[in-house]
Amino acid sequence: IVNYSKIHKSFGDVDVLKGINLDIKPGEKVALIGPSGSGKTTIIRMLMTLEQPTSGTILVNGENLWQMEKKGQLVPSDDKHLHAIRGDIGMVFQHFNLFPHMTIVENCMLAPALAKKNDKKEVKIQAVEMLEKVGLGDKINLYPAQLSGGQKQRVAMARALMMKPKVMLFDEVTSALDPELVGEVLEVIRDLAKEGEMAMILVTHEMDFALDIADRILFLNEGVIEEEGPPSELLVNPKSERLQDFLARFN
Ligand code: ATP
Repeated sequence: IVNYSKIHKSFGDVDVLKGINLDIKPGEKVALIGPSGSGKTTIIRMLMTLEQPTSGTILVNGENLWQMEKKGQLVPSDDKHLHAIRGDIGMVFQHFNLFPHMTIVENCMLAPALAKKNDKKEVKIQAVEMLEKVGLGDKINLYPAQLSGGQKQRVAMARALMMKPKVMLFDEVTSALDPELVGEVLEVIRDLAKEGEMAMILVTHEMDFALDIADRILFLNEGVIEEEGPPSELLVNPKSERLQDFLARFN
C-alpha cells in the first residue's frame, strides 16, 4: 500500500535520509526504531506531505505523492489528487494537537466534516463510536484540558480513525506521557492492530511493545535502514554491531 523508493532528504548540508527503500503491504504493522536523529520522524512525516523528499518517489496505493518539476525539484501532486491519497493516511503525533476550545467529540468531527461534507448527525454518530472504541464514550462533551495526557492521546487516535485510513502513522505517541499513562495508550494501539486491516507504521522506543505487535521491525541508523526483519529475529538476534549496541541501552 506504501512504497518508498530511493528516498533522500537533506536539511541544508545535512543528509538525513540516504536512500530509503521500503514496501508496506496492506494491513502490515511496521515498527521503526533507531537512535535519536536517525530520521525516523522524517520518514513518516513525508507520508503526510509534511516534509518533502529531496529526491526519490513515494507511492500510496500506486499513486505518486510527489511529482518532479522541471527544475528538478519535487513538488506535491495536484490538490485533488493529494486529497484522495491523504484520505488514506492518518497520523497521531507525540503532542496531541487537539483544539482546546472544542469538546473532544467536536475535535473528532472536524476533519471529516470539512473534508467530505458528510451529514453532521452522521459524523457525530461516527465520532461517538470512535471515542467509545478508545474507551472515552463517557467523556465526549469534555474539553481537552479536562483530560489526562493518556486520554488526550486516545482522542487524537479517535480523530485520526474518523477518516478510516488504510495506513496509520504513530510518531512516538507515548513519549510525552507520564509513565503510568503509557499502558492505556499502547493498549488501544494493540486493539487496533488486532483488528488487522489497517497498516501501521510506528516510531517507538517501546521495544517490548514493538516485539508484541509488529510484523516487521526496521532499524534506522544514520539515514539508512541498517537491518530489518521480524521482531523475534531482529530484537533477539541482532546482526549488526550498531543494532546490538542500540538494543543494549534498553536492557
Ligand atoms: P528522534 O528519535 O529524536 O525523534 P528521529 O530519528 O525521529 O529522532 P528526525 O526527527 O527524523 O529523527 O530528524 C532527523 C535529523 O533531521 C535530525 O538531525 C534533525 O535535527 C534534522 N531535522 C529534522 N527536521 C528538520 C528541519 N525542519 N530543519 C532542519 N533539520 C531538521
